[in-house]
Amino acid sequence: MPQFNTPPIWGLYLHIPFCSELCHYCDFAKTARWDHKTVAQYFSVLEQHLDAWLEQVVAPRGVRLASLYLGGGTPGLFTREYEAIFAMAAPYLVPQAEITLEANPKNITVDSLTHWKKLGINRVSVGVQSFHAEGLQFLTRDHTPAQLQESLSLVSTHFPSYNLDLIYSWPGQSLEMWKQDLIQAVAFSPSHLSLYNLTYAPQTPIGRAHERKKILSPDDESQAEFYEVARTFLASQGFLQEEVANWYRPGFAARHNALYWQDVPYVAIGAGAWGYLPTDEPWGIRYQYPKGLRSFLSMPVPQFLHHTLSSIQSDLLIETERDRESWLLEYIGAGLRSMYGIDLHLIQEKSNGKWVPTTWIQQALASGVLQLSEKKILSLSPQEWFRETAWCGEVIRCFL
Ligand code: SF4
Repeated sequence: MPQFNTPPIWGLYLHIPFCSELCHYCDFAKTARWDHKTVAQYFSVLEQHLDAWLEQVVAPRGVRLASLYLGGGTPGLFTREYEAIFAMAAPYLVPQAEITLEANPKNITVDSLTHWKKLGINRVSVGVQSFHAEGLQFLTRDHTPAQLQESLSLVSTHFPSYNLDLIYSWPGQSLEMWKQDLIQAVAFSPSHLSLYNLTYAPQTPIGRAHERKKILSPDDESQAEFYEVARTFLASQGFLQEEVANWYRPGFAARHNALYWQDVPYVAIGAGAWGYLPTDEPWGIRYQYPKGLRSFLSMPVPQFLHHTLSSIQSDLLIETERDRESWLLEYIGAGLRSMYGIDLHLIQEKSNGKWVPTTWIQQALASGVLQLSEKKILSLSPQEWFRETAWCGEVIRCFL
């Protein structure tokens, strides 16, 4: 039986790949071609896999779940379909666990909000993306600015904790338009905001258009300006920043996402879902379910008790190659772009990495761009989080 050797607080991510329409920038595992029979089949397979993970991996190790995140796809398309999942997961959740569901504005009605609440969902994350009709059109979203107003008013009266997702630096968007988007978002008093710089993933329609130079993206400097506008404005509105793309009102930091940034394990189930498990190896394993809906539906349910960890991967899940280098890169990268920073003790413990700062890093420490706390947490100033990749390379050189 595989051995897991970490603190027994993990997260749980469930992927729901169904969408009403596909957005041209999206490279998540998703499909707009589905019917109710496929959905029923998907939930049935998901439940069988969840049962196996809970009974054979989570329970025997005394693990408790700090969060349950329903991501997609568009989980907001469904309500009653989650009942069995909640019944199964409930015994493993810590009191006051964060339970999030991603929804699109069109999914938000008094009925759906009431159902989600009844299930135990205590946080909704809404895909707004832009309050401008031009932005919604470019991003091929299926809602209008008017629908946004209506659904956000509803969600704000039903859920004290909710997040809005917005995208910036789309072609044609000015800094002024971005500021207006932020003003409109804040006017609804969300507890959390996720603001993403538009990316052009190669397999997406806009990625291909970008490659053929049919769409031009703003240069790095302009993108950094969008980031600065958000930082300055949200600080003036009382938001705190927890990560390069995430802001929260005091008391409402995103607990599920924080697991990703702090090297905490999480079980992930569903088409294309990524999970992270600790093993006897200090780097743990990252695994991914196959992205295709058909492949997921035809997968055998895992039998963890009868397999070693490596045979589970070859039978079922796709494992990514991991070693000291990849773990350092991942952990340091995530820590440098978030308020959690990087724990030098953890690096010492996991990778035997002795901290010997380079001249550049010494200068950054002296100037205050980097800070090293008494508890040996190294953190980067938020204005630099946007350039985390450049910093990461230099910080890694400090661990011999
Ligand atoms: S962005 Fe959301 S709604 Fe749009 S295709 Fe992707 S998962 Fe579906």
